[in-house]
Amino acid sequence: MTSNKMIISIKQITHWGKRVLSTLRDRVKTFLKSPKTLKPLQLPAPGFKPATKQYEIHASPDYMELKMAFRDIGRMNAILETLGRDFLTAMPDGAYKSRLSQIGFLYRRMHEELANQKIATLIEKAHAHEQKHPDDWDLWDHANLREMEIMYRHHCQADPVLIEKRARLMYEGRRVHREVRRNNDWETARPFLENMVDLHRQLAETKCLRNNEHETEAPYQALLREYIPGARVDEVETLFTHLEKSLRRLLPEVLERQANRPAPLPLTGNFPSDQQMWLNRSLLSVMGFDFTRGGLYETGHNPVEGGTPDDTRLVILTADTSTFLTSMKSALHEGGHGIYIQGLPRDTWRYQPVGQDLGAAVQESQALLIEMIFGRTKEFFEYLSPRAEGLFQKFADPAMRADNLFALRNWVKPGWDRRNADEITYFFHIRLRTRLERDMISGKLAVKDLPEAWNAGMEDLMGITPQSYAQGCLQDVHWFVGKFGYFPSYTLGHILSAQIHDRMKRDLQNIPDLLRAGDFRPMRDWLHERIYQKGRLLRPAALMEEITGSPLSIQPLMNHLEERYLMAA
Ligand SMILES: [Zn+2]
Repeated sequence: MTSNKMIISIKQITHWGKRVLSTLRDRVKTFLKSPKTLKPLQLPAPGFKPATKQYEIHASPDYMELKMAFRDIGRMNAILETLGRDFLTAMPDGAYKSRLSQIGFLYRRMHEELANQKIATLIEKAHAHEQKHPDDWDLWDHANLREMEIMYRHHCQADPVLIEKRARLMYEGRRVHREVRRNNDWETARPFLENMVDLHRQLAETKCLRNNEHETEAPYQALLREYIPGARVDEVETLFTHLEKSLRRLLPEVLERQANRPAPLPLTGNFPSDQQMWLNRSLLSVMGFDFTRGGLYETGHNPVEGGTPDDTRLVILTADTSTFLTSMKSALHEGGHGIYIQGLPRDTWRYQPVGQDLGAAVQESQALLIEMIFGRTKEFFEYLSPRAEGLFQKFADPAMRADNLFALRNWVKPGWDRRNADEITYFFHIRLRTRLERDMISGKLAVKDLPEAWNAGMEDLMGITPQSYAQGCLQDVHWFVGKFGYFPSYTLGHILSAQIHDRMKRDLQNIPDLLRAGDFRPMRDWLHERIYQKGRLLRPAALMEEITGSPLSIQPLMNHLEERYLMAA
């Protein structure tokens, strides 16, 4: 839609709908209005139907125009999400090249819609209005404008040609990764990764902020911020140093305790993949995933998270028929992402920046809460075991008993494989990758030296030497799709999930009973009220502090791990 037509249509809406909308706006304001400081939101009363804030006429015409511009950017992003899901699950091979150019083109167009002088001027004028007429701006509008500005600043310096190149390489990288991993082919991987690192260093340099006249932040900081709003590299480093110290102490204790117990019985026989997917879909339904607005699919590529609240397609790796636990773990993980995405304020803020999720760390916290915290409890396996026995027709199989499934899922064993790592050693994988990607982006580590640095790190952190590139630096897809700065989100998300769980336990005292009964509704409602429906109303650190009452801390995670791996019978 051209901006002229957009303005005309806004005028028309103003004409016929002014009275209705202003009544609605007053109602919303009554609910949402609060003092200038960010205070916890009052929830709307039961039955209250919020107005569509995206289209609500605002007293600032510049902000109104921004809302329409960001709606269109959001629409393009939703189209890209759909194209990306199709790329992974349904696209015929012959469409590969043309799809790459479609995706690259749309990314560049989206970038051009966002990073231009007109948007900058509108933001400036809207801010002026905000200062002059503070009563016209409720908390949500404040937050929306703030997020618009952050998005704009993040992209404004980047070269559209680089953006298009990156988008193509991101999708090309999925295919390159699948091949080089399968063939243990470092010689093909190396130049591709070198290209990716150079490109991301260049892009990051355009996104760096200036702290003062002399000092500009490091490029890795800019990349980290893209995934974890507000995070600082030095703070993450401090947190990870503490966690490493604590886990290096905990791991031998857990292994020693575990050595005194018989190892769990391995699963045997066949677990047909269609039955696994039926189980996974059923579990997601029980957890509240809405299949009228989403689905669960298999792919031969690496799984991805994401989608939009209207179309949340979760994608997991094609099921391994020797065990149902691996695909179930992925389904629970992606389901945690999916339920969060579906709970975002889509009716009121669809496509607007304030209606989006809070970035990778909070996303991962929601996924890991379901996958690792709830999905690895004894009570969850008590719920699951009789159902899985029936589904896979393994009634007399002792390996299918709840206590055995629980032990299988929670067996701690240092290994080369991040994706299937246990809850304790998982951190060491993240520690290594965070360090290596930071050094590659800064130029301290050359890509050609990556395999050696990887193996040395694995030896130091876990006493493991990978036997091949595929078991070492080629195992993850992230760097092949340009996700430099994403890895820390897994550990930050794990820390957050334990902190959130800690708080939730005080409000819902019977979580174990609920899990045993397969009743996830109270937990989901709790999360929906405090996290999902708030979108980006608050920045991640502020929201977490509002929920848990304390800043980010590793203590709840350490308590959780000690309780599960040292104290449990
Ligand atoms: Zn995830």
